Amino acid sequence: MDYQVEIEGGATFAADASEDSLLRAALRAGTGFPHECSVGGCGACRYELLEGDVEELWPDAPGLSERDRKRGKRLACQTRLLGDARLKVRCDAAYVPPVPPMRTDCALVGRKMLTHDMAELRFAASQPLNFLPGQYALLQLPGVRGLRAYSMSNVADGSGQLQFIVRRTLDGAGSRLLVDQLPLGSNVMIDGPYGHAFLREHVTRPLICIAGGSGLAPMLSVATRASALGMSADFFFGGRSVADLCARPALAALPGFGSTLRLHEVVSGPDFDGWHGATGWVHDAVASLVSENAHDHEYYFAGPPAMIEALQEMLMVKLQVPYEQIHFDRFV
Ligand SMILES: Cc1cc2nc3c(=O)[nH]c(=O)nc-3n(C[C@H](O)[C@H](O)[C@H](O)COP(=O)(O)OP(=O)(O)OC[C@H]3O[C@@H](n4cnc5c(N)ncnc54)[C@H](O)[C@@H]3O)c2cc1C
Repeated sequence: MDYQVEIEGGATFAADASEDSLLRAALRAGTGFPHECSVGGCGACRYELLEGDVEELWPDAPGLSERDRKRGKRLACQTRLLGDARLKVRCDAAYVPPVPPMRTDCALVGRKMLTHDMAELRFAASQPLNFLPGQYALLQLPGVRGLRAYSMSNVADGSGQLQFIVRRTLDGAGSRLLVDQLPLGSNVMIDGPYGHAFLREHVTRPLICIAGGSGLAPMLSVATRASALGMSADFFFGGRSVADLCARPALAALPGFGSTLRLHEVVSGPDFDGWHGATGWVHDAVASLVSENAHDHEYYFAGPPAMIEALQEMLMVKLQVPYEQIHFDRFV
């Protein structure tokens, strides 16, 4: 069912309310609707409803504070339209999707365990899906309420293959299904690409890629493309123990590994058994490399919120790296 949406002082677009949240309809229509995670966690897609009827898909979504709710704010990623609507939000050209997102039926064609809790999954799409290195997609998983965001770990090559690296979380409905249960051959609707932490190919500054846990997926995609282009990159991968360090085989297969592409593995502990390399927090390891010339690099990172916050604080506040040189996804 198509409804008309008008953004006060901005775009008007048609939204397919049977398939899309307000946010996904707005992005599909090419607007610069602010967003980050697209799954209710971050609050970047807050807006105010001026006219119209909507349904909230996840009324308790953590992306809205009590104060936001009292002030009448809603999350576009958790809004289903029930009719035409008029709303207030400040759009920005920076949020216009660089590749128009589309829904595609995909089949699970492969699964490989990388560690005790992380698996690489391969999907074949029914049509070629384009995406930029570092972007993510939203998966509609059978029997799971809401969509789940996962970053592609491969690069788009026109074949329609999508690869993800998923970490099993405690009691996690989506990740447990993907890592342990979903049978090969299963069909999954995948919608994408989304996200702004994609490789800026035209920027010639050397890259610093930083991944924590399953943040490996988008960083692998970025490093794969960067190495094909001969760009210089330092790749930091942080894990709690040696058993978590699973980045080396994929990176070692890329051109320039050991010369233009350099891997730095860091174990945070408390289990250091069998490890003789760098220890501590991955952002401290980054600091030791770049503190003298922090402004000369382009930074890409993905992983748990605590790692993202530590890196933001270090790069933006302490080292004063310009905002435009920093690209990240927070796995909320
Ligand atoms: C941009 C982005 C990229 C990501 N990339 C990766 C990746 O490459 N690899 C990886 O392992 N993880 C990634 N994540 C994390 C991933 O999306 C999941 O949050 C994680 O796998 C846990 O999901 P779960 O279903 O197992 O856990 P659950 O606890 O079942 O669900 C967690 C998430 O599901 C959503 N959710 C929960 N309940 C509802 C509801 N009622 N309605 C709607 N939504 C709901 C919320 O977003 C919540 O954060 C990414 C997250 C983001 C935001």
